[in-house]
Order: sequence, then C-alpha cells, then structure tokens
Amino acid sequence: MQPARRGRGASFPALRPRIFDTMFTGIHEEVQPQIEALDIDRSRPLIITDADEVLFNFMVGLEDFLGSLGLYFDWTSFALTGNIRRLADKAPIDQSEVGHLLSDFFEQRCAGLPAVEGAAAGLKSLSKHAQIVVLSNVPPKYAENRRAGLRDKDMDFPLIANVGSKGEVVRYLTEGLDAPAYFIDDIPHNHSSVNTHAAHVHRLHYIADERLSALLGPAEHSHSRLYSWPEIEAHILRHIETGEY
Ligand SMILES: [Mg+2]
Repeated sequence: MQPARRGRGASFPALRPRIFDTMFTGIHEEVQPQIEALDIDRSRPLIITDADEVLFNFMVGLEDFLGSLGLYFDWTSFALTGNIRRLADKAPIDQSEVGHLLSDFFEQRCAGLPAVEGAAAGLKSLSKHAQIVVLSNVPPKYAENRRAGLRDKDMDFPLIANVGSKGEVVRYLTEGLDAPAYFIDDIPHNHSSVNTHAAHVHRLHYIADERLSALLGPAEHSHSRLYSWPEIEAHILRHIETGEY
C-alpha cells in the first residue's frame, strides 16, 4: 500500500459513510440493521418470500377483524383503500382511517393468522435446496407478532419487517450471490420495484386468496404467475436444477 499523501489522507475517513450510503440507498433506517444481521451464504440459492397473501391468509383474517368492528371488505378491486365499508350504511371509511385500522389489525391478529395451504410444506421442502428469507411489510413494531405466527405455523425462517418498497432490499440481499434468487409476492408494484433494482432475481407472482386472485392478472414485471404452493415449489426446484423456467 502506498503511503497516503497529506491531502488524500485527510479525506479518507469521509469515504466510509459514502460507501455505506450506497449500500443502503432506498432502504429504510429501521430495515438496515435487520438486513445487516442476516447471514447469507453467497453460494446457495436464495428465496425471498412475502408473508401476507403468500404465507398467511391475510384477507381471511382481515374480513374477520372488520366484521368485529361493524365493517366489511367490498370485493371490487385489489386495494384496501376505498373497499373497507361500514355494514350500517355501506359507506367506505376514510382513507385516513385505513392506516390506523391496519396497524390495529397487525397488533391484534398478525400472530394468529391462518397459514396458506401448502406454504409450510413447500418452504420446508425448498429449504433443503435454498436459503429462505421472509420479507414482509408488517410494521416493524409488530415484527415479533409476525415471528410468533411464523413459528406457530412451522415456518420459522428469518424475517425482515420492511418499510416501503422492496426492490432495494432485494438488491442488497442478492448482491454478490453466486446462485439463483427468487422473489415471491402478491403485489404488482413490489415486482416492479424488484425489476428496477434487482432485475436478475426471478420473480413469481402469487396471490393466495382466490377472490383476490380473480381481481388481478399477472403482474407486469413478474416472470410467472403461479396459483398454489405445490406449483411454486415445483417451479423453483425445476429452475434450480435445470436453469429453465
Ligand atoms: Mg403480501
């Protein structure tokens, strides 16, 4: 190593924060320590899976919760805003109320949500061939509730409680990975975000709830739309073994 000249030596300490800024670009500060703590094996395939409507029956749980509050979900589109209505007069609740309602839902119901049929068996089988990380937009303050639900349903894999879009987090997790990576999610804009920031990741679009699934075609930026966990499992195994979709 060459001895640093005066000018360069003086500026060196400023480099480190700049490098870390780049690594964490677009990643929420509450998410950064969670992904830093993960131990990713760079030589092993990696499966990054969403939780709600992929591992857990979110809508089933939400409908039950809404019913307990005199509310219901109006199945007209793939969105929460505008579709949560009062049983009494069928009027939609204000957009400003939806955030609080969801926060209460995660606090009270997240740990007890039913698991999607075949999810635990699928992940268990895939975990013999790949590492698995759960990337969920559960509010970080309720991450422990989600972990309890994962443990209870025999899906005890590392959880990242994400805030915001998912693409930058997937980029970080797959950086330097010398094996294929897979992303499973129900929400189209999450596929778009991963396509933008980690286009090398194989993207599988899956919506567990059949009623919700019927409202939406394949996500524009996904590679494949799949309809069950046995299908997801077979698809990923085939791709790991043959490189074919
Ligand atoms: Mg989801």
